[in-house]
Amino acid sequence: MRCNICDSDRFSPLAQVSYHGHVSPRLEFRKPGRFQNRPTFAAAFARACLDCGAIVYFVSQPELLRLAEVPDELGVTNYSRRYFDEETDAWIEEE
Ligand SMILES: [Zn+2]
Repeated sequence: MRCNICDSDRFSPLAQVSYHGHVSPRLEFRKPGRFQNRPTFAAAFARACLDCGAIVYFVSQPELLRLAEVPDELGVTNYSRRYFDEETDAWIEEE
């Protein structure tokens, strides 16, 4: 994993995102249709770059699977079939 800001490869361990009552960061896509809800996904985990402090957010695996179901017209279907497993601290490739 490389930092998009400073190109460092030194990151903190994965940490749970917590805002203690404040709104957590979310990905909000536009509504797929007039009477449909806006697809929204919560950022559950994050890592911090140990050199510049940039924070990289991750959605949970269930949220990632739900994200794959977002309609094609929203332009988010070119997703990767891999996810970060917080228990093993490793990327998992899905078939
Ligand atoms: Zn950085």
